[in-house]
Amino acid sequence: MEKCIFCEIAKHNLPANIVFEDNNVMAFADINPATKGHILVIPRKHCLNLFDIESDLFTRIFQLAKRIARIMPEVLGCSGVNLLHSAGESAWQEVMHFHLHIIPRYNRKELQRPFIPHSTDKDELKEIARRIKEKIK
Ligand SMILES: [Zn+2]
Repeated sequence: MEKCIFCEIAKHNLPANIVFEDNNVMAFADINPATKGHILVIPRKHCLNLFDIESDLFTRIFQLAKRIARIMPEVLGCSGVNLLHSAGESAWQEVMHFHLHIIPRYNRKELQRPFIPHSTDKDELKEIARRIKEKIK
């Protein structure tokens, strides 16, 4: 089985520009930054994505993302950030170890919006909301 690149970074077997680490989570600079200062936050323990991460670890990742995002305007001079998580290949996930992108934003035009409205069909919206509401736990 091929080694997981983010597990290797978490174990310090591969180099990374680490900005924070503790026993549970780690944040480091993306080697292919979408904008200046693009950071990834990962759990140190391997898990695939949103579908299988433990809730406590998920919370820790978002708490760290918040701490990092809040200092980005001062450190980088950005005026906004995007948080992005891809769960599954159909959602652009390429590295199969949970990661949350923190992408500093400097202006509206440096990135393209990832979506345009798929549908404005009011009956479809109502039906989907009803089905999710019924199943949510
Ligand atoms: Zn991994």
